[in-house]
Amino acid sequence: MAKETHEFQAETKELLDLMIHSIYTNHEIFLRELISNASDAIDKLHFESLTNRDLLEGNEDFEIFLVPDKENHTLTISDNGIGMSRDEVIENIGTIAKSGTKAFMQQLQKAKEEDKGTTDKEMIGQFGVGFYSAFMVADKVTILTRKAGEAQGWRWESDGSGSYSIEEADKKTRGTTIVLHLADDFHGDEKEENYEDRYKLQGLVKKYSDYVRYPIKMNFEVEETPKDEKGEPIKDAKPVKKTEVRTLNSMQPLWTKNKSDITDEDYNKFIQSQFHEWEDPMEIFHTKAEGQVEYTALLYIPAHAPFNLYHTDYEPGVQLYSRHVFIMDKCKDLLPDYLRFVKGLVDSPDLSLNISRELLQQSRELKVIGKNLEKNILKTLSRTLKNNREKYEKFWNEFGKSLKIGVYNSIYSGTDTTDKLKDLLLFTSSKDGRLVTLAEYVDRMKEGQKKIYYAPGKDKETIEQLPQMEMLRDKDIEVLYLTDPVDEFCIETIREYEGKKFHSVSRGDIDLDDADSKEAKKETEDIAKKNDDLLKDIKKVLDGKVADVKLTARLKNSAVCLVADEAGPSLSMEHTFAEMDNPMFKAKRILELNPHHALFSRLQSLHDVGSDNQDFKDYCDLLYTQALIIEGLPPENPVDFANKVAKLMAK
Ligand code: ADP
Repeated sequence: MAKETHEFQAETKELLDLMIHSIYTNHEIFLRELISNASDAIDKLHFESLTNRDLLEGNEDFEIFLVPDKENHTLTISDNGIGMSRDEVIENIGTIAKSGTKAFMQQLQKAKEEDKGTTDKEMIGQFGVGFYSAFMVADKVTILTRKAGEAQGWRWESDGSGSYSIEEADKKTRGTTIVLHLADDFHGDEKEENYEDRYKLQGLVKKYSDYVRYPIKMNFEVEETPKDEKGEPIKDAKPVKKTEVRTLNSMQPLWTKNKSDITDEDYNKFIQSQFHEWEDPMEIFHTKAEGQVEYTALLYIPAHAPFNLYHTDYEPGVQLYSRHVFIMDKCKDLLPDYLRFVKGLVDSPDLSLNISRELLQQSRELKVIGKNLEKNILKTLSRTLKNNREKYEKFWNEFGKSLKIGVYNSIYSGTDTTDKLKDLLLFTSSKDGRLVTLAEYVDRMKEGQKKIYYAPGKDKETIEQLPQMEMLRDKDIEVLYLTDPVDEFCIETIREYEGKKFHSVSRGDIDLDDADSKEAKKETEDIAKKNDDLLKDIKKVLDGKVADVKLTARLKNSAVCLVADEAGPSLSMEHTFAEMDNPMFKAKRILELNPHHALFSRLQSLHDVGSDNQDFKDYCDLLYTQALIIEGLPPENPVDFANKVAKLMAK
């Protein structure tokens, strides 16, 4: 096949441009990225060779080799891993089909606009644009690769400016060799970042890749004094130059060490090098168990939620090892989905290397390990909530949504997830705007208060302006502010907490039990009886729009509000369903009027003229549309609404 030249995708070009005109000053991480790709490639081959030994082509001494060349100003990184076919080179290197890249660019742009000070370092790691970091230090990159088990090798080359070439090439050994043609700033002894310097490279491997589980090797020129037959150095003999292969990394799996021998720094370094993390994790769990199933787990919660944690392209899961041998990368059935943010690894001699990944994910041993780890993590979270509120709130702000979705999903999974999680939930409170647990809310409920009140809404400010909040505020009753669409679904799944039912301020009757409220309710009912015809006629005018029209005692200063029926979705849930393209679920709307508002008397007098009177009909319509707007819903007919308001204003 002749040499072909391909254009990079627009997004790839943009990304390369960013890399080259360095958005990012910490150039040295390119080495870590390329080594970790090499290590992943060996992992893949290793795993596949368990069922197909031919792939090893008679060589199972896995290794990564670094070759700096001072004459040609190149740095070569080679591995004897799985390698790539032609299609894979084009797919993996030539195009970035992954949505990650696009998201990366957008985030980067956003961070720049907002000047949030997010470092590029965090961002590159988060989005895994690893290979392209090579272009930070190289003005040309050549890849020579041959897939294990295939005969034909391939050469890929690019200067990062817009296109790349690909052609057939001979390659005797399987795997991938990457040649970086170092840019002028990155070679030469006088340069601080001299990536053809062996000691510099050795230091970088120690710093970033010490725990890579395959040897990272490099040749060193050493001088040695010749020895006699007895092995004694010969006196006065001239030293001779020799090449010595050194392994630069220690390779010891950190998790096999005793906890007492591991420092925080060791953990952090290990996690960064093993899992492409850029920040120290928020929490680390290192456990060894010997009961029913023997295992070691090193799990962690990252400092920040990955940008795509709730997208379908996010792959949750931990690495699996058996006797320190890598089995798989993202085992997603170990932990429940609500812990999708937990990363790390599990190493167990009880996991079988010789069964398919699918069967392995469902194995009894894995289930036992998963259950234990889940318990462990929940225990730690609950301890943190009790003893270190600030840390827990930080955790909550990053990952709380996962737990809330977990509660909601338990209606499908039928598990006891709700019971496990309900005490870990936090909601913003009307009391001081801070986060509260349900237990704290119940603990400080007013005497006689029977329900836990909550209010869904876009944000704190919008909720506080809701007419439905007036009475509760008046009576100093605490309300949970549900500002994330999933909150309400979560609360409605829990149904009740310690025997206290949840009640939305935007639904049905508020039903307070104190003497004042009872009296106000009674009075409202009396007025309603007297105005039965009026209410019926308003309902008639609003036919098809509302399920009912009622008088309410819950409003103080506002004239109207719209609430949903006790059963079925609420107005905000309807909104969420509509956004998910699911407009089937409609809330049953109830229009509530304040009988003490001046507008109510106006309605009465218009109604007295006759229920067919156009002004009366316009008023009904305007009231309804106002109530919609207050709820954050759009007017059903904005032009008609504007015309009616204009007509009224001109009067
Ligand atoms: P990531 O490693 O996050 O997937 P990269 O841009 O670093 O992103 O690499 C893209 C893909 O190219 C990898 O997922 C892998 O499939 C392939 N690749 C990169 N380096 C190698 C290598 N040394 N051997 C085999 N495949 C590789």
